[in-house]
Amino acid sequence: MHEFKYRGNELYCEGVGISGIAASVGTPFYLYSYKTLLDHYNKLRDAFRPVKPLICFSVKSNSNLAVLRALVKNGAGLDIVSGGELYRARRAGADPKKVVYAGVGKRRDEIEDAVRAGILLFNVESKEELEEIQRIAASLRKRVNVALRINPDVAPHTHAYVATGKGETKFGLDFETVYGIFASHKRYPNLNIRGVHIHIGSQILDAAPFEKAIKKVLGFVKNRRISVDYFNIGGGLGIIYSMEHPQTARSFAKRVLPLLKRSGLKIILEPGRFISGNSGVLVTKVLYNKTTPRKKFVIVDTGMSDLIRPSLYEAYHNIVPVRIDRDAQRHPEKVDVVGPICESGDFLAKDRPLPPVNKGDLLAVMGAGAYGFTMSSNYNSRPRAAEVMVIKGKFYVVRESENYGDLVRGEKVPKELK
Ligand SMILES: *Cc1c(COP(=O)(O)O)cnc(C)c1O
Repeated sequence: MHEFKYRGNELYCEGVGISGIAASVGTPFYLYSYKTLLDHYNKLRDAFRPVKPLICFSVKSNSNLAVLRALVKNGAGLDIVSGGELYRARRAGADPKKVVYAGVGKRRDEIEDAVRAGILLFNVESKEELEEIQRIAASLRKRVNVALRINPDVAPHTHAYVATGKGETKFGLDFETVYGIFASHKRYPNLNIRGVHIHIGSQILDAAPFEKAIKKVLGFVKNRRISVDYFNIGGGLGIIYSMEHPQTARSFAKRVLPLLKRSGLKIILEPGRFISGNSGVLVTKVLYNKTTPRKKFVIVDTGMSDLIRPSLYEAYHNIVPVRIDRDAQRHPEKVDVVGPICESGDFLAKDRPLPPVNKGDLLAVMGAGAYGFTMSSNYNSRPRAAEVMVIKGKFYVVRESENYGDLVRGEKVPKELK
């Protein structure tokens, strides 16, 4: 469910007309619905209420300060994967005691910052990283809480690039190594190894792989008499982009809650896409129609530099007109919706039946709230799009679009070349 709905022939976000926002902000822009963000957060919180989990929103799915603030203000923690995300978490006013930090390549300075900030847990992904955190904790004379990220070797049915819980990926530690670390915990006098963590992948539609991974980890903890307080079951819950039938928060909880309750551990969840994905759309304008002997193209003013998911994962995003033309609706045609970037891979949709559109028409690319703006780039020297949020019937620009000056900021031409 989300708050992007038609009223008459016009697409609205929480009662605010999207054409009006476009007229004021200019295209392309990302548009987020505050209510949808919170609704999704609350759905998960309510479904898991029996274990009172800490829900740490995955910052990398959407790191805009207003998005983070909206969730933090309503009780969320944050799941970070870099020093930059720690900086954002703090700017959004997150309680460090609700911040968890994963990632296989944490740098020394990033670890130091997070230790000083007093985050809840590092999710450690290798033995060398554990040793590095021990050294840093010792030099700062601190005791640091860590969890070990386990790679449970399960195969979720999702795109290979977002499957992280299989044995051959770079993520997490195998069970034997984890056991070895617990057995030799005295080698880490400044660390409290307080938890185990998994995150098996993203856009997972079915509870089965989660259940399998959770069972594997809980079995391991029990059989090997591992003593921990926290079990972080990661993120990865899939959402509806087109015809998917993902498990709901409630049906997911029903499957895994009995296991989690029985464990007696404190539960952490790290959803990203589930909260932010359908809370955002990318609004774009039609620049041209182009017909070749083979195909019809609709060329729009946004592309892979703003939203790379179609190019990178062959992801499907629904594309809808901001203003419906009832006649056009009756005569859909198969088109490729493409952007201005000089790459054949720059497309938003392929062979998609769409009602005919005209130059200047607005389109909304749905489900763009997660891994949209955060994965955007300046490729082809295109300034990044604005981000806008609707809150209680008003819209706010929560990030201005970039300008040409932003594109060359920090660049210098050496005197040699003048
Ligand atoms: C990306 C990521 C998440 C969030 O994944 P979603 O599929 O967006 O829910 C959670 N935990 C970790 C460690 C991640 O890297």
